[in-house]
This record gives sequence, C-alpha cells and structure tokens, in this order.
Amino acid sequence: MNTTGLLEVTAVRRVTPRTARVTFTGEGLDALAAWPDQQLKLLFPPPGRPVRLPEADGDVMRWYQAYLAIPEDERPLMRSYTVRDRGKDTIDVDFVLHAGAPGPATTWARSAAPGQVVGRYGPDAAYRRPVPAADTVLLAGDETALPAIATLLSEVDNAVVFVEVADAAEEQALPQVRWVHRDGAEHGARLVAAVRETDWPAGRAAAWLGGEASTVRALRRHLVERGVDKSAIEFTGYWRRKLTQDDAPTPEDLADAREKLGG
Ligand SMILES: Cc1cc2nc3c(=O)[nH]c(=O)nc-3n(C[C@H](O)[C@H](O)[C@H](O)COP(=O)(O)OP(=O)(O)OC[C@H]3O[C@@H](n4cnc5c(N)ncnc54)[C@H](O)[C@@H]3O)c2cc1C
Repeated sequence: MNTTGLLEVTAVRRVTPRTARVTFTGEGLDALAAWPDQQLKLLFPPPGRPVRLPEADGDVMRWYQAYLAIPEDERPLMRSYTVRDRGKDTIDVDFVLHAGAPGPATTWARSAAPGQVVGRYGPDAAYRRPVPAADTVLLAGDETALPAIATLLSEVDNAVVFVEVADAAEEQALPQVRWVHRDGAEHGARLVAAVRETDWPAGRAAAWLGGEASTVRALRRHLVERGVDKSAIEFTGYWRRKLTQDDAPTPEDLADAREKLGG
C-alpha cells in the first residue's frame, strides 16, 4: 500500500456526544495490512483550498521535506490519529471533539461530511508499538488513546485497562475497560489516582500508555517507582496542554524522546 494518499469521507456519526467517527475510503486501503494501534497523519486542507499532498513517497524524511516545501498558504495542517476500525477498503477514525482551544483537526471533524477529502501519511508498520510481553499488561490513557487501546485489546488477553473520559456518556462498549470519569476534575488526575490505587497479580508487569503528555509522564513515573522495568513501558504523549501539535517540543518532550531512544 502507498504510504501516502487521499482519503474521502463516506460517513460520519457520533458514537458518543464528544466522539465523531469518520469513515474514509481511499486508494490502496484494501491492501492495508492488519495490526493493532495503526497511527497515521491526517492532512487537513487550508480554508477554501483543496488538500495538496507533498510530492514524495516512501522515506518519511523526504516526504516531510516535500511537505515543508509547499507554500505556507497552501500547506495542509497535519495532526496524528489512529485507525479505530477497518472495512474492506475503508478505515474509521474517531475524533475526540475536545474542549481545548479549537485546532484544525477538531474544527474539521465537527463539520465533517461525506465527500470531503483529506490527505494521509501512513499507517506504516514501521511505527508499530507492540505491547511488551508480561504476566500483566496495563493499558492506560485518555479518550484520544481509546482507538489504540480498543485495537490493542485484540492481541492482549492479560490486560488491566483504564481509560479516562469526560463523563459516563463518553463510555464505549468495551467490557474490559475500567472507566474513569473526569466529571470536571483536572485532566488526568483521576486516571493517575486510579492506577495508583490498583493492585495487579504478582509477576512481570508491562504497560502501554497514551494520552495527555504530563499525565503519561506521571503514570510512567509511578510505574517505575512501583518496580516496573522502564523497558517494559511503552509510552507516548498524544497532546500537550495549551500547546498545539505544531508547537516546538518542550524540554520534557525532548527528555521523553531521549528515553524512548534508550538514552
Ligand atoms: C500517535 C497519536 C495518535 C492519536 N490518535 C488520536 C485519535 O485516534 N483520536 C483523537 O481524537 N486524537 C488522537 N490523537 C491526539 C490528537 O492528535 C491531538 O488531540 C491533536 O492535538 C488534535 O488536534 P487539534 O487540531 O484538534 O488541536 P491542536 O491544534 O493540536 O491544539 C489546539 C488546542 O487544543 C488542545 N487539545 C488538543 N487535544 C486535546 C484534547 N484531546 N483534549 C483537550 N484539549 C486538547 C491543545 O492543548 C491546544 O491548546 C493522537 C495523537 C498521537 C500522537
């Protein structure tokens, strides 16, 4: 399958009050291999213009250079998402309609309709993040990590799963998940508290963490303090408070990146 291409919306529905599930079709999707947690970059057209794809394929660095070479007023805005589900030649993406400052992805998703076109880079199996093998696997995150967690559950049968959502109306039909409701509390606080209060069976533990970056950091710190091996913790900050995905990395983001590289 080509790493990059266009996607056309075929259907949009609200699966919860704050989650829009968008079904896309596009050339090559029928050849997409199956693996859980398929991440992709979506490219949203600038206002009043069609989406323009970078003229390069394959190597991600070359593709990114071609992206930057597009004149600024024509350059699509890029955000990261996860394939929630797949059909024969379609993919579903769940957009959290978050209450943060309006960004291009959420603004687009709020009024998405059949026929609209966006670009994609990925999914690419090179970015696969397999869950480390262990006696117990903790999967934890907020609603932005729910698509990844839902698909990871298909390959992990010894998982303890926590997902923090805004309130009870945001729960989805996933029986394994222990739902944590924010109900107006600070983002991430109740998720960290729920994981802290949880015991799991003796034996080797591993974890997969995704969601707001400072929450992911707090969860990781707690797990390391509890004796979970750093190499058994797969973690990614999906978004940052008060910062967009275009903003430069903070010193904490850079430290996370070094940790991931084993530095
Ligand atoms: C690998 C990966 C996979 C992801 N998969 C998904 C997915 O499947 N579904 C999904 O909805 N998101 C997913 N995300 C998160 C998504 O990319 C971010 O939430 C992104 O910032 C949304 O873009 P935006 O244009 O709405 O906001 P931006 O322009 O990036 O940010 C605008 C403002 O909104 C705030 N903000 C961003 N996201 C949130 C949020 N969730 N809650 C509250 N405030 C927020 C920011 O702090 C900023 O102040 C994923 C991220 C990564 C890295």
